[in-house]
Parts: sequence; structure tokens; C-alpha cells
Amino acid sequence: MKDLAAYLARRLSGEVRVDEPMARHTTWRIGGPADLFIEPAGVEELAFVLRYLREQGVPTAVIGNGSNLLVADSGVCGAVVKLGTRMGRIEVEGTRIRAEAGARLARVAGAAMRVGLSGFEFTTGIPASVGGAIMMNAGAHDRSMADVVGRVTVLDTAGRLMTRTAQECGFGYRQTVLQREGLIVVEAALRGTPRNPAEIREEMGELLRRRRCVQPLEYPSAGSVFKNPPGDAAGRLIDRAGGKGLRVGDAEVSIRHANFIVNLGSAKARDVRELIARVRELVAARFGITLELEVKLLGEDP
Ligand code: FAD
Repeated sequence: MKDLAAYLARRLSGEVRVDEPMARHTTWRIGGPADLFIEPAGVEELAFVLRYLREQGVPTAVIGNGSNLLVADSGVCGAVVKLGTRMGRIEVEGTRIRAEAGARLARVAGAAMRVGLSGFEFTTGIPASVGGAIMMNAGAHDRSMADVVGRVTVLDTAGRLMTRTAQECGFGYRQTVLQREGLIVVEAALRGTPRNPAEIREEMGELLRRRRCVQPLEYPSAGSVFKNPPGDAAGRLIDRAGGKGLRVGDAEVSIRHANFIVNLGSAKARDVRELIARVRELVAARFGITLELEVKLLGEDP
């Protein structure tokens, strides 16, 4: 891997590291080292990296802000390509916003607010990159990325660029067909509608206040661990099944919000996985419902 890294470091202006601790790149602050870690500085570099790693037979995962990821304690065999601030350009053109995949959603919402574009208020408090938010169809308050996406530019693993309309993205509850197709989001054209900036600011402030009341934002987490089953809320089920406050090591089912597992300090991925298994058992035993994971797993522990 060192030779590959040295070659890529010579070719790229972005970051190339070996044995990079993934805990630095996840909001859970959990995760062992990635053999190879690359943060490309632009679409061309990204396409080049993907093509090169494929030719070399290196398994590759693309991540955004790591806010929905549980990375194994043993780390990731192969390469992790992070789309971060080096691919974070945002441009407002009338009622459209073009954003690169690495741009933080909060910056997009801020830019929209300043020019008086509504539609992004629901994203307040979602610590996602644009690419990760589109891939997960992130949402809150009955709205989701599906409501604001116009077009998406994607790359396949061979490094070919394509455009997808919102309909072609196949948005569903915390999923898209882009996930199944193994495509990588590199840029999006997002749509807003005109609204008074002061009203947008007020709504966003209110949504943030509400989040602070109900979510344990003082601890590292990955937001909701489980998807809501049809017609119910995973948090309510976990709470009713007696899951709140369950603890394994430094991982705890939040007292404040039962669908959050918080890292109280030095939680490991294996602690979180054990807690996930216990919560599932509790809910299955009490309600006969098998909770489905919303968080994505990366890497494998023995
Ligand atoms: P990552 O966690 O880095 O990746 C998530 C998945 O997307 C992975 O499978 C990764 O491989 C893939 N991916 C990332 N970027 C790309 C790309 N450019 N191309 C292809 N695949 C990609 N989520 C909600 O929906 N609603 C909420 O209200 C919400 N609240 C949260 C609150 C907190 C405090 C936290 C920590 C998380 C919350 N989340 C919420 C979860 C999380 O923010 C979302 O799932 C978000 O969409 C993940 O974006 P990301 O950039 O961090 O993606």
C-alpha cells in the first residue's frame, strides 16, 4: 500500500495517507485505520483515483462526513476516499444551487438563506455532506433531499461521469437506487423557492432549538441508528421495550433519544454492535418487529 500511496501522492494535490485512523472521520469518533486514505481535490482527481484503484484491484469505499458510519475497530482493508471540503464548492444561480458532493449541507442551507431561497430549512442540524445526504436521502420534518434535488452528477467505479435526474435517483426512505448501482455522487443541482431570509433564519433557529431539546448533541453519535418501521418510530419502540440507558463499554442507548447510541468517551465499534444486537432482541421480543439499520457499516471485525 505504501507504494500505491507514494504514487498517488505524487499525482494528486489532495491528501493521501496510509493507516489513517477512521475515528477522525466519523461523527461517532469510532473506527480503526484505513490502509489507504485519500481526499481528492476535485472531480478529475476523484475519477483518476477510482480508475487507478480499480486497475490495482484495491477495494474502495467512498465516504462523506462520516455521520452515518460505523467503522470497524480493525479498520478498513483497502482504500477510503473521502469527499470533503476539497470538493466543497457551492454556487448560487437564481433559484438553483450547484454544490459539489463534499460541501457540507449546513453551508448549502446557509447560502440559500442568505439569498432568500427556501427548501433547505429541514436540513438544519444534519451534519452531512451533500453527497452523503443525497445517497441516504437524508430527511427530517417530512421533507428530504428528494424535495430539493434537480439533477445529480455521478461517477461510476470506472471513472465515467453521468447525469441523473431526481426521478432517476430513485429516492426512497433513507435510500436511493444510486446506492444499489454503486455510483458516486460528485455534484448536485439543487432547487429552492424564494422566501424572505428573515423567515428562513427564524425557522432554522427554531428547528435547531427543537433538536437540542430532544437529541443528545453533547456526545458523539451517528444520529438515528435504526430506520423507523412503517407507521412507527424506532425510538418509541426501543423506549417502550426498556432499551433507554442500556450500556456496553462506553456506548450507551441515549436516555434522551432511544434511537441514538452515544459514545460516552472511548466506545469501540464492537460495543456499539453488541448494543445494536441487544436493542434488536428487546424490540423483537416485545413487538415482534426486526429493526433495520439506518447506519452503514464499513470494515469487518473478526
Ligand atoms: P457518510 O456517513 O460519510 O456516508 C453515508 C453513506 O453514504 C455511506 O454508505 C457512504 O459510502 C455513502 N456516501 C457518502 N458520500 C457519498 C458520495 N458522494 N457518493 C456515494 N456514496 C456516498 N440523517 C437524517 O436523514 N436525518 C436527520 O435528521 C439526521 N440527523 C442526524 C443528527 C446527528 C447528530 C448525526 C450525527 C447524524 C444525523 N443523521 C441524520 C445521519 C447522517 O447525517 C445522514 O445519514 C447523512 O446523510 C450522512 O451524510 P455523510 O456525508 O456524513 O455520509
